Amino acid sequence: MQTTGQQDTYIRAPIVVVLGHVDAGKTTLLDKIRGTAVAKREPGTMTQHIGASFLPWKALEEISGPLLSQIKVEIKIPGFLVIDTPGHEAFSNLRVRGGSIADIAILVVDVQRGLEQQTFEAIDILRSKRVPFIVAVNKIDKIPGWKSFPNKPFVESVKMQDEATVLKLEELLSYIIEQFNSLGFRADRYDRIKDFTRVLALVPVSALTGEGMPDLLLVLAGLSQRFLLKRLVARVAPARGVVLELKEEVGFGTTATVIVYDGVLKKGDLIVVGGIEKPITTRVRLLLMPKPLDEMRSPEDRFIEIDRISAAAGVKVIADGLEGSIPGAPLIVAASEDEISRILEEVQAEVQATRFQSDIAGVVVKADTLGTLEALVGYLKKNNLPVRLADVGPVVRRDVFEASLVKNIDAKYAAILAFNVKVTPEAREEAAQKGVQIFTERILYRLVENFLKWFEEQRALERRRIFEKVTPPAVVQILPGYVFRRRDPIIVGVRVVCGRLRPGIKLITGDGKEIGDIMQIREHENVLETAEEGSEVAISIRSKAIVGRQVEEGDYLYSDVPLEEINLLLEKYGDELTEKEKEYLRKLLRFRLKFSNRIEYP
Ligand code: GDP
Repeated sequence: MQTTGQQDTYIRAPIVVVLGHVDAGKTTLLDKIRGTAVAKREPGTMTQHIGASFLPWKALEEISGPLLSQIKVEIKIPGFLVIDTPGHEAFSNLRVRGGSIADIAILVVDVQRGLEQQTFEAIDILRSKRVPFIVAVNKIDKIPGWKSFPNKPFVESVKMQDEATVLKLEELLSYIIEQFNSLGFRADRYDRIKDFTRVLALVPVSALTGEGMPDLLLVLAGLSQRFLLKRLVARVAPARGVVLELKEEVGFGTTATVIVYDGVLKKGDLIVVGGIEKPITTRVRLLLMPKPLDEMRSPEDRFIEIDRISAAAGVKVIADGLEGSIPGAPLIVAASEDEISRILEEVQAEVQATRFQSDIAGVVVKADTLGTLEALVGYLKKNNLPVRLADVGPVVRRDVFEASLVKNIDAKYAAILAFNVKVTPEAREEAAQKGVQIFTERILYRLVENFLKWFEEQRALERRRIFEKVTPPAVVQILPGYVFRRRDPIIVGVRVVCGRLRPGIKLITGDGKEIGDIMQIREHENVLETAEEGSEVAISIRSKAIVGRQVEEGDYLYSDVPLEEINLLLEKYGDELTEKEKEYLRKLLRFRLKFSNRIEYP
């Protein structure tokens, strides 16, 4: 442990996560890093942690040696703690209020495919959590003509490629750079960057051959050193961590994988952990780390007990009551019993900030962990979708009940989004009965995507329903010689000059006098539901007026669209209306607002 001069602090290893689109090579890259860590294991350092791998600086020095002189900073970090599980879900559980305990991320992009759907999502998440990242432009070995030099630095191997191959690489890189530009990032090949605070570093690599890995790790180290040092100051104090996942282990029951990002965690420590019901206060019974492969005697003999571990570390914690904890929730050590109530409050506040219930018209969200719940709610908020209830755990009847209440207020939000959780049979039955939609998925973005598709359909239906309810714009002319009945009900032949007629529409004269409601529309023997522009039909009108007095043959009659409906139609339904209909509505509006004393249409 290197101290920073002050007695009680030290520089810890940055916590690194790997994100990217499916098949970009995240797992392969992590395997390569792990392989390096294990192969270059230093005596006394534990390279395999629980849920993470530690890459000691010494190992880095060995593989990045030739490049080290380039970064011109004295290295103070002890190495990297790389989270073993790639992707959004694990990352989202590394949460602390308003941010992440991940210090830096590697975003893996397939050199030939560029940025893809989940790459964009990963960038969004990293941005929102303010986690800096570098880009591993992976699979350079697949570029036609590329000659592989396993484990060599990219800057060396690129010098040994043909001109045409390098040109192809540059072409692929510039496409990726352009994609980043369109997101508002400046980006460049890392060896051309002068100011790493302004320009995103792209490191060409092959996770398969190891080419470019020295460069990648060095850029990671350089950036952590230069820009993250403040964050990396850890205290020799009671630990803080997050629960990454819960796992059943034979002989141990439920165990928690905990990433410790500050302080020292000891066997026997009094801890407070975020729980489903309420925060759990308990004592660390055991701390377990993986046994190095060469010391394992049987498959059951996988762990070694340790007494203490300091940040940054991934460790298995065993303690009574941990089965009720929530992945993504904080774990905080209380130095003494006096501290417990303050810490309980802190932990509870943090958990409750993500789990909430309100009475607004919004969707119900259920997820397996606090992290995925937070990510899901974040996506929805970004899409301006209200959330009524957000919680961890299976979908139960109460959730369906909430959604059914929403259905009465605003049906397009009567949905439950369930991520990686079960739906109880009763809940499913109830949902079918009440007409509540349940969306289930194991991939976050797909869940939101599926819901959004349905939501847009609902919105279009609702829009249609409203459109069909409002008074349509319509103008008719009474055809001279076609007055069949002069008084209630008036029956006349008309031409639809503009818009669309339907029974129930109230007609007025050009100066706004009410004539009456259309009772029926007929074309010869047929009764019509609507009459389109240009058609000639007979209409009956329930009316107190008399043709020849208040209204004459050849007169125009107008649909009586109320002011608020005129505004609604012009503002929201412009694309459903013809130019003539809009012109009529604007003239009617002028008349209604008393800018003119007649409806001047046509
Ligand atoms: P993930 O879904 O992002 O974790 O991607 P994987 O690591 O599982 O890789 C997806 C596929 O790409 C696998 O078949 C890998 O062998 C392959 N792959 C990953 N990295 C490289 C690389 O650098 N070069 C080549 N040629 N293939 C790679």
